Amino acid sequence: MSRIYVHFPFCKRKCIYCNFYSVSREDLKSQYLEALSHEIELRADELRGATVETLYFGGGTPSLCTIDELVAVAQKLRSAFIFAPEPEFTVEANPEQLTTSYLRGLRKIGVNRLSIGVQSFDDEILAMLGRTHSAATAKAALENAFATGFDNVSIDLIYGIAARQPGQWRQELKEAFSHPITHLSAYSLTVEENTLLHRKIRNGALPPLNEDCAVDDYWTLIYEAGNHSFEQYEISNFARDGKISRHNSAYWAHTPYLGLGAAAHSFNGTERSWNAADVNRYIQGCAAGAPPRESETLTLRELFNEYILLRLRTSAGIRFNDLQQRFGAERRKKTEKHLIKLPTTFYISDGEHIVLTAEGRLHADNIAMELFETGDEK
Ligand code: SF4
Repeated sequence: MSRIYVHFPFCKRKCIYCNFYSVSREDLKSQYLEALSHEIELRADELRGATVETLYFGGGTPSLCTIDELVAVAQKLRSAFIFAPEPEFTVEANPEQLTTSYLRGLRKIGVNRLSIGVQSFDDEILAMLGRTHSAATAKAALENAFATGFDNVSIDLIYGIAARQPGQWRQELKEAFSHPITHLSAYSLTVEENTLLHRKIRNGALPPLNEDCAVDDYWTLIYEAGNHSFEQYEISNFARDGKISRHNSAYWAHTPYLGLGAAAHSFNGTERSWNAADVNRYIQGCAAGAPPRESETLTLRELFNEYILLRLRTSAGIRFNDLQQRFGAERRKKTEKHLIKLPTTFYISDGEHIVLTAEGRLHADNIAMELFETGDEK
């Protein structure tokens, strides 16, 4: 069983909070797609014999590609790898590209899951974030998606924005849930280095983030999601009717995946590799038969730290027997002892298995850090 991620590193312009690798150089798109086609050929052997269960086109903005361009990538992948009969096939899209004809084209390629970058249903907030669409465009994109027959649609929203008026976040969630979406990814605004948001806060053009606002918004999110039968299956991800992202769940379960395209990461269970985050180098490398790629072999300690970090964020939680099988009895004992000393409102456990509650997940990263192993490898 395998997963494939394909990165499309082009955006109309950079959103102020974004630190994903993308460039505003659509003139390089056709050379990039040619390079991607080469990389697919070059790496076809890496999944030899495995069946691809999920395919994810992310970015950047995959929907800046024409349908014909996406068809070519999908065909190339299908000729190089073995796919399950109905793989989960997700495409990230920005609302402004989701016309009915574009959406029909996506369905014809086999796309059965959309992840739409809505971020907010308020024009002022969208403008502040540097987004290129309006609230009306986002609503129209959702209507078009359902009218074209998509029944597995996720949207992204951002919270923790102090510029929202009191009650506005709740209204935006209500707007989101008034559409028949099956999945919501809601992220707290964070300030990453090398982003416009970071610079604007540093030079005083925007106020620093307000942590109380983020926590209040988190609780509003938990309440409204629960009210609309959405389960929080990962700290930032909510699904109804079991429509979790199978692709992203595999990341959180720490299972292998193949990443193609500039800046894409791959993981084979012990080794992580990543292509250069540089479109020009990627194009040149693929043309020369060697996409620029670096790799590292993860030690058992690093795998343990990642396992703890990822599992504590999800509703799958930690099964102590599984942890023991992967990392040994000593790590199990230490983890179990630490977690059951947390405040009782932070977790649910039957002794074999522990899952953080919505309150506990608010502290998941800190709890994980307390468990992280440092120092020499054991
Ligand atoms: S559209 Fe997405 S990938 Fe592109 S800059 Fe904005 S947040 Fe980043």
